Amino acid sequence: MKVIDLHCDTAMKLLQNPDASLAKNELAVDLEKLDAVDSLAQVFALFVNKDLVDSPYATGVAVLDRLEAELQKNSAQIAWAGNIEGILENERAGKKTALIAIEEGGVLEGSLENLHMFHKRGVRFITLTWNHPNEIGFPHGEEHGMKGLTPFGFELLEEMNRLGMLPDVSHLSEGGFWDVAKASATPFMATHSNCRALKDHTRNLTDEQIRALANKGGVMGISVVKNFLKEGADEGRIEAMVAHIKHAHKVGGLDVLAIGTDFDGTALNSELTSIADLNKLEPQLRAAGYSDEELEKIYWKNALRVIGDVLR
Ligand SMILES: [Zn+2]
Repeated sequence: MKVIDLHCDTAMKLLQNPDASLAKNELAVDLEKLDAVDSLAQVFALFVNKDLVDSPYATGVAVLDRLEAELQKNSAQIAWAGNIEGILENERAGKKTALIAIEEGGVLEGSLENLHMFHKRGVRFITLTWNHPNEIGFPHGEEHGMKGLTPFGFELLEEMNRLGMLPDVSHLSEGGFWDVAKASATPFMATHSNCRALKDHTRNLTDEQIRALANKGGVMGISVVKNFLKEGADEGRIEAMVAHIKHAHKVGGLDVLAIGTDFDGTALNSELTSIADLNKLEPQLRAAGYSDEELEKIYWKNALRVIGDVLR
């Protein structure tokens, strides 16, 4: 089964491990493992914990430089794309696609010029906040509640809409989610968020949010992160991921579903330890009654639809 994974943090891990290669490594994502799942496109996030660095912007650029160098070295197998045509062209050439995201809009340091620079260098998705307040808005967490986008956040959203970039509301506050849902001129995504009804965590989406995301034509990438799947000892099991898929399906319809693993950004799941393990999800979804056509939508067609609708 082809797959588009909407989120991994492998690029930051590559920066931290100068000897690691994208071709083959000890991390959760490399070309060999992407081959094993028949990856159509992998979104690589330029993840920056802005509280740990002097310049979020410079760190974002450093992660991007490292990722680009690896893409160069492995250009026979994987190539960047900025839109659906690029993905399909790469596929025809027998190559996987790398899409680039920024995870932590604070990397832009409140500047549209910086947005334009990253856009020119290929970034097409922005996770508006990570776990800290930034120039764009407030992150998830009870303490932030309905505090949403800042005036700069609205300005940035408008510019992303104009450029044909994808706003990502994973990690954003509830207020921020609703600001994006109301103000975005295009569909948007929650690239790696699960269902709040099954695991009460502010990183997960409420049923109301899932419906709003679906109504807007967007998708949510179901993640493998055990903390966002289930309480207790079996929290990290594939069956918990199946339960989130079934719930989001029931609430938002099949078209809202996608995959956003969050590999290399989080504590390992007990049954899904690398991108290759997405192959183990498929039989369990079939056992839950999903047909070939439905599985294709979940694994890649829904994500590709939104990419086609938004990215230019
Ligand atoms: Zn994240």
